This record gives sequence, structure tokens and C-alpha cells, in this order.
Amino acid sequence: MSQPNPNGRHPETRVVTAGRAVGETALAPTLYPTTTFSTETVDLGRQMATDPTADRFYTRYGNPTISAFEDAIAELEGAEAARAFGSGMGAITAVVLGLCSSGDHIVTQRQLYAGTQMLFQAVCPRFGIDVTFVDATEPGAFAAAIRPGKTMLVFAETPANPRLDLVDLAELGALKGPITVVDSTFAPPLIQRPLDHGVQLSLHSATKSIGGHNDATLGVVSGSQELLSWLWGFAVLQGANAAPFDAMNGLRGLRTLSVRLERQSASAQQLAAFLEGHEMVDNVRYPGLASHPQHDLACRQMTMFGGLLTFDVIGGLDAGRAFVEATTIARLATSLGGPETLLTHPASTTHVGLTAEEKTASGITDGTVRVSVGLEHVDDLMADFSAALDVAAQVA
Ligand SMILES: *Cc1c(COP(=O)(O)O)cnc(C)c1O
Repeated sequence: MSQPNPNGRHPETRVVTAGRAVGETALAPTLYPTTTFSTETVDLGRQMATDPTADRFYTRYGNPTISAFEDAIAELEGAEAARAFGSGMGAITAVVLGLCSSGDHIVTQRQLYAGTQMLFQAVCPRFGIDVTFVDATEPGAFAAAIRPGKTMLVFAETPANPRLDLVDLAELGALKGPITVVDSTFAPPLIQRPLDHGVQLSLHSATKSIGGHNDATLGVVSGSQELLSWLWGFAVLQGANAAPFDAMNGLRGLRTLSVRLERQSASAQQLAAFLEGHEMVDNVRYPGLASHPQHDLACRQMTMFGGLLTFDVIGGLDAGRAFVEATTIARLATSLGGPETLLTHPASTTHVGLTAEEKTASGITDGTVRVSVGLEHVDDLMADFSAALDVAAQVA
């Protein structure tokens, strides 16, 4: 599977060792719940208050439990530095509002996580930041929308929520001028590493696959020390820092990331193939399927195809709702990347306020279902989906 990195160790090994300090004999992450630290001298305190790497001054600035998580993520992303946040949205708002000022311009894509889209649509204009939305599956779309001297940020998400469209990371990494950012939540470090392609910042909602157990709300951004130091300066004022307890759970989650992703990717591939052959199902989207319009790109930039897939239940809104309410193993819940298989029905939840045209632009139909494949036995999942599709067929 994945290639050994230059120091000879595979990512599967590094998820187990990353973030452990030299000489540390505790194998589980150590929790420092403390909000503050005593300093020997006034000078030392002042020095730490201005040092992005200091983690024994005040927890909003830094904390050893949070550092351990950040160091682990930086190592796995191939980054110089990382900063953890209290949520994925905390990380995204820090990048957007920490790097852009009034008068600046952002280029992003139409298909985005709903929270990110709201930030670009509703918050950025209030601060005088202009945002252009493009179809990022079209080659050259980002480059064509850049306004030289004005565009501060190009913000991509790949694979994108909910239809799993991909952005070509090499093309994004080759853009000159603006700072390039990828929300790589759907493809954690073992699956894809945006920085290897020249992208400047990689971010994750670690609430999802990285934490992996539905018990930590967490975000993380990785990149150069220079960019991360700048972000740190904003982040200590923004105050969306990670909680030590969540960072501890994030690091605990990382230790099993590779086996979880392998199982979820294998099950998702099998489930996607099963759904593709089912008469009640249309438009199965999974990067690992040959029918995915960007399957070749997925093979180039992803080592596994992940646990997310999307499909349409034939029969519209009623059939879609009947399906997600009829499964008994898969649960109807937002979020992804945990042990439990989760379903969302965008047309009646996240995208309920959209017009028919807007839904089409977001790649959603009334019957669209998003699946986050969990760790259950795939045969049980297929039986669960099959029975629920029979229920949907009765209302279609
Ligand atoms: C969940 C998610 C976010 C937001 O993360 P939170 O931890 O919920 O704030 C951002 N981007 C993507 C792709 C997500 O799935």
C-alpha cells in the first residue's frame, strides 16, 4: 500500500509514533487540563507569550497535550508546523479571517461543506471580502478567477461534500500569487497530502476521521512555520483554540487511523459496487469506482478512496426519507469518519432551504443520500441497505 517516506518508515507506523516526545515513556497521550503555567521569571513569561511554539504559558496560546496532537499532524502532513482549533470551523475561520482583510478577494468552489459556504456567502461580504465561486472540477477554473494583486486565498475542498467531486491538487499547488488552502477532511493524511503537491495549507475537521470516535470536536491546520506563526497570532485573539481533552482524544484517534481507513475504504468500495447494481439506486458517487468522472485523478492523488459515498434513491424525497429512516445499523446522523455507519439526507436537512436550481448546482437531488461507512461488517451493511431499499421501493 503506501510508499515508505524518506526516513524509511511507513505512514502506518508513523501514526503510532507521531507526537510522542523523545524520552516519553507514557504510551497514551498525557492530559494537561491546566489553563495556566507558572514561570520562573517575568522575562520568561513575556518571551513565551510571543512565541508560537511555546506551550507552557497559557492554554489559549498553547498546551503540551495540544502540542503533541499538533506535532503528530504536522509529521503526518509533511508540514513544518500545525495549529489545532476547537473545531473544523474554528480552523477555517482562522485561515479566512486571519489571512484576508477588507478589499481582498477569495476564490473557492461551489461544492463545499455547508458551514464553509455560509462563511463565504454571509460573513465574508460583511467584512468587505469578495468571494468568487467556481466549478473546481473544470481544469483551469481557479486560475481563471484569480485577480492578480487582489486574490489573497484560493480555498478548495477535496473530496467535496456531498457529491465527492475532486480538485486536482497538482494544479492547485502550481497556482502563483494567492495562498492555497485545501479542506482535506474527507481524505485524512494517510489518504492524501495536499502539501506534497505544493498547496500551502492543509486543514481538517479532526472531529471526523482523525478523532474517529465521535467524541472530540477539533480542527487542525498545517503548513510552513511562517504561515502558522501568522495564524497563531490571529488564533490567540480569535480564541477558537482546541480543548486539551479533545486534543488528547484526537491523538488517541490518530493511533488507529490507518486500520480504520483501510476497513472503511474496503467496505465503501464493496457497498458502492453493490449499490451501483441495485435497481432502486442511481448515480452512485465514490472516487474508487471506475464510473466516478474523476477516477483517474483519484488514483493519482489518493492512496485509498475513503469511507464516504453518495447515491440517489430512485423515487425522490419520500423514497429518500423512507430509506434513511428504515436502516437499522446505519444511523441517521450528521458527521462522518467514526465507527458507526452514518447517513444524511441533504434534501431534508443541510440543503433544505435551497431552490431546485440551487440543489442541482450543489449536485443534490431529492433522493440523494450521503453515507459515511463505519467499521461494521460489510455484509451486515449490505443487508441493512438492501432491506431499507425494499422499504423505499414501496413509497417510490
Ligand atoms: C465537518 C466539516 C467541517 C467543519 O468541522 P467542525 O469540526 O464540525 O467544525 C468542515 N469541512 C468539512 C469538509 C467537514 O466535513
